[in-house]
Amino acid sequence: MIVLAGKILWLLGLVAWCTIRYAPYRRARRTKTTTERDRNREWVLLAISFIGMFLLPLIFVAADQPKFANYPATSPQIVLGALICAWAMWVFYRTHKELGRNWSATLEVREGHVLVTTGIYRSLRHPMYAGYWLWMLAQALLLANWLAGFAGLLAFGLHFFLRVGHEEQMLRERFGDAYAEYVAKTSRIIPGLY
Ligand code: SAH
Repeated sequence: MIVLAGKILWLLGLVAWCTIRYAPYRRARRTKTTTERDRNREWVLLAISFIGMFLLPLIFVAADQPKFANYPATSPQIVLGALICAWAMWVFYRTHKELGRNWSATLEVREGHVLVTTGIYRSLRHPMYAGYWLWMLAQALLLANWLAGFAGLLAFGLHFFLRVGHEEQMLRERFGDAYAEYVAKTSRIIPGLY
């Protein structure tokens, strides 16, 4: 029962994420890209993220596999997972709203790209990625399977660390001193720490 509750809550998170992203995704498709960085590398990393964040969890949710990695979940674990998941969705909502047309799934600079430094971007440079860290932490708590639960943290973690420096370099090339000043005043994902 507790395991099922965790699975349902994980699915609700996925539906919420798809809903939040639908409009920005359509808008982004209509906005021209002027620079695209590490295209092939980014698609490989996106594929790895897809496996860890969606495919393995969906296999566990739908077929309860792989059985050897299942374990009994506790209700505090599921409640905590649900709260963190809700927090992540709020962060996705805010960041998509604030980034607007400047958002992209891979590393891109768009026509008329503006550097966003206000709202949730005032103290953090990568609040949307902070949201993904939260969401993947929630996944680890909500899915009572070591493999499906932790695959997201591993896959997204790899993507994050291999991407974040390149993204900052791309924005430094586009926005110059304005971006350097912004970097000096902000943290990446944890206010005041990192
Ligand atoms: N790393 C950010 C944005 C993720 S979306 C976050 O975690 O919130 C990725 C795209 O956002 C990149 O291709 C880049 O062009 C754009 N981007 C990143 N930071 C930005 C900012 N402060 N202002 C405008 N665009 C930004």
